[in-house]
Amino acid sequence: MRDQKHSYLSRSVDQLKPSGIRRFFDLASQMENVISLGVGEPDFVTPWNVIEASFHSLEQGYTAYTANAGLFELREEISKYLNKSYEVAYNPENQVIVTVGASQAIDIALRAIINPGEEVIVVEPGFVSYAPAVALAGGTPVTIQATAENAFNIQPYQIEAAITPNTKAIILCSPNNPTGAVLSKDELSGIASVIEKHDLLVISDEIYAELTYDEVFTSFASIKGMIDRTILISGFSKAFAMTGWRLGYAAGPKDIIAAMTKIHQYTIMCAPTMAQHGALEALRHGNDSVIQMKTSYRQRRNFVVKALNEMGLSCHSPGGAFYVFPSVENTGLSSEEFAEQLLHEERVAVVPGNVFGKSGEGHIRCSYATSLKQLDEAMKRMARFVERRL
Ligand code: PMP
Repeated sequence: MRDQKHSYLSRSVDQLKPSGIRRFFDLASQMENVISLGVGEPDFVTPWNVIEASFHSLEQGYTAYTANAGLFELREEISKYLNKSYEVAYNPENQVIVTVGASQAIDIALRAIINPGEEVIVVEPGFVSYAPAVALAGGTPVTIQATAENAFNIQPYQIEAAITPNTKAIILCSPNNPTGAVLSKDELSGIASVIEKHDLLVISDEIYAELTYDEVFTSFASIKGMIDRTILISGFSKAFAMTGWRLGYAAGPKDIIAAMTKIHQYTIMCAPTMAQHGALEALRHGNDSVIQMKTSYRQRRNFVVKALNEMGLSCHSPGGAFYVFPSVENTGLSSEEFAEQLLHEERVAVVPGNVFGKSGEGHIRCSYATSLKQLDEAMKRMARFVERRL
C-alpha cells in the first residue's frame, strides 16, 4: 500500500474539505426530538399529477435512454417556460440541456469553460458546492464577500476588484442560498456592465427563481447584452418539490451547450427518463401547485422573520428561496458555537453561517421549508436559548 505521502487519491479531491453542513446533520441524526431547520429542501411531496405522469410513462414502456440533451419535448417545454416566465429566448434544438439536477448543470458548465488555472469568482455567503466544483474542473475559485450591510447583495465594484487577467467567469445565485437575497433588475444591470467591460461569462444559478415573494424575479440572461454571456442554470428540485428526482437544466449559448452536452454524453448519457416525463407534466400543469407552495413559504417566512427579530436576533426579510440568515452576533457566540449549543440545549438544528464562507460568520441559516407548527415550536425553543445568552 502507498503511504500518506504517496496516496492513491487525486490531489484535487484530497484537498477538498467535507461539507460543513454534513457534520450538523450527523450530530442531529443521533439525537431524539430534534426540529431540523437545517435541510435545504421542500417539506412538500412532489405534486401528484407529476408523480402520476412519471408512473404513466413507465406503464407505457418509456424505460430506455432519451436523447443525450434530454427529451426534445421537455427541452421545448423548458424553452417556452423560460420565455414566458423571464422573457429569455432559447432554441430547444441546441441551447437547452436536461441534467441530473442543477448540480450536474453547474459541474458541466464549469468543465465546459475552464482551462487549467483560470479563475472563477464565487460570491460568499454562497452555495457550498460552487468553489469545490470550480476546483474539480481545474479552475481556481476566487471568493468575494457579500455583506449584511448591503443585505447580502454583491456590489459591482466588489466583482471588479476581484478580476484579474485569468478571470473567466462569475457564479451568481439569486435568490440566494443561504441568505435568501434577491438581486433586483437594477443590481443585475450594474453587474452586467462589469461583465461586459471585462468580457466575462456568468453562470447564473436560478434554481430558486419561482420562489420570490416581494418582487418580480429577473433572470440575468434577460439583461441587455447578457444572453450570450450567460449559462442559465435551473431545475425542478425547489419550486416543484422534486429534489429526489434529480432533474435540472441549463440554457445558454450554442457552443457552450454543445460542449456541456459532450461531457454529459460521455459521463452521464442522459438524465433519468421517468423523471423527464414527470418534469414535462410539472412545466405543463404544475403552476397551481407552485403557487400554493409559494404562498405557504411566504407565510412561513413572515412568521420566522418576526419571531427572530422579537427574540433579539436581527434578521432582515429575504426576498426569496426558503432560508433566513439572522445575525447571532449579539449573543457573543460564533456561528458554530451558536448552532452546536442550540442543538444540544434545545434540540433545534440550524446551519452555522461560516460554512457558506467568510462573510457568513456571525449568522446562522434557518430553512423555513417546514410546517408552521414545527416552526412555531422551533422559534419557542430558540427564544429560550437566546434569552439565556442576552
Ligand atoms: N443551487 C443551489 C443554490 C442550491 O441551493 C441547490 C440545492 N441545495 C442546488 C443548486 C442543487 O439543486 P439540484 O437538486 O437541482 O441539484
